[in-house]
Amino acid sequence: MKPSTVTEEAKLLNVTEEIVRGLVAFSLHGPDYPTFCRCRKCELDINAITLNHLDNHFVTTKEDREKAYAILKKPDSIALINKHIIRAIHIVGQKPVH
Ligand SMILES: [Zn+2]
Repeated sequence: MKPSTVTEEAKLLNVTEEIVRGLVAFSLHGPDYPTFCRCRKCELDINAITLNHLDNHFVTTKEDREKAYAILKKPDSIALINKHIIRAIHIVGQKPVH
């Protein structure tokens, strides 16, 4: 019996999460918040708070991921996401749990 060919495994992916994680990392490690705690716990808390205020955008295929990206990367959408990230950074900054 031939071993079955391993095809690319289907994955459940939240594109909103992917984008938020990237933007949070960019904000925290950029010049905007030089004194902000950069520990993993604070970064994950910012992601959690932000994502709880945004709609999920789950996909299972590359094509749908690209479509979701095209929608979520529009200026209005990025502005909304950044608004929630800034809010989350302030919340975590005032009361860090690390
Ligand atoms: Zn921290």
